[in-house]
Amino acid sequence: MIEVRDLVKHYGNKHAVNGISFRIEKGEIVGFLGPNGAGKSTTMNMITGYLSATSGTALIGDVDILEDPIAAKKNIGYLPEQPPLYMDMTVREFLNFVFDLKKVQLPRKAHLDEICELVGITHVADRLIRNLSKGYKQRVGLAQALVGDPEVLILDEPTVGLDPIQIIEIRNVIKNLGRERTVILSTHILPEVQAICERVLVINNGKIVADGRAADLGARVDGVRRLNVRITGDVKVVAPALRTIDGMKNVEILGEKESGSCDYQLTSAPGIDIRQPLFRKLEQLGSAILEMRDAGASLEDIFVKLTVEEDVPAKGGKRARKNKEDKQ
Ligand code: ATP
Repeated sequence: MIEVRDLVKHYGNKHAVNGISFRIEKGEIVGFLGPNGAGKSTTMNMITGYLSATSGTALIGDVDILEDPIAAKKNIGYLPEQPPLYMDMTVREFLNFVFDLKKVQLPRKAHLDEICELVGITHVADRLIRNLSKGYKQRVGLAQALVGDPEVLILDEPTVGLDPIQIIEIRNVIKNLGRERTVILSTHILPEVQAICERVLVINNGKIVADGRAADLGARVDGVRRLNVRITGDVKVVAPALRTIDGMKNVEILGEKESGSCDYQLTSAPGIDIRQPLFRKLEQLGSAILEMRDAGASLEDIFVKLTVEEDVPAKGGKRARKNKEDKQ
């Protein structure tokens, strides 16, 4: 269990985290999302005891990380975005090293063997880490987080840079781990959240702006609809014609993916279904739709929407974008 109460972090005049509170139970996998600069890393660094808080508390199990950091840290497994690995050790040597470092009291061989099985690295246990693929290095990173059998796992962007098959495998490993533990997963990828997490916390400008079911997140951007469409014909004729359709908010040209056609992303105004007018317009032009699929809402849309809900309308959107620019 993790409980955060009124956590605040100021860097000089900068209020990076502004009084956030939440509680995550055992068996929950929670996605921790927010635009760049929202305060995710600062929050995770306070929960893991890496940064001290200006005020507020973070409890890991029943232990306050500020009052008894050593006891609290025993209950936390942390996988940073860049896993801290020693490339010249074998997987087994490295896990033994982490075991000693954490002063774990469990039966060494049985515990490390169990972890290797859990994350699927038993068959590479005697290989040098430097010779493993990125996906397997990430698994070793997960394995080091699991040494000592912590109740809480904090995972920062665990699938960044992996190929699609590795991504699916790591997500499955995380889902399994989450059955018995409390997991916080920081990510920028909406499908990842929807694939792994039941619940999401969204942070913006150092405050929690949403706490709810992951499945409901897309629905927060009410009515705005995005379609990815493949249309035959000259883009110089088709694109301007698409822009004349009533209710069309934006036409983005994605490029030629199939000879003689172009892919577009079409965004309609809230509450308007443009599919039928689109069909009629293209009929007039003599163009055909080769493919059409719902592109859903993007995380960026969700963040802007949540910021607007939290703030005065125009200012909120600008602030979300400004925040992003600050970090770039
Ligand atoms: P990202 O997704 O880009 O990693 P984040 O949500 O993790 O962003 P934080 O890194 O926690 O955001 O930063 C929150 C805010 O605090 C940002 O505006 C950032 O510029 C600022 N900040 C972070 N660390 C420091 C620091 N050491 N000194 C001053 N300001 C900082």
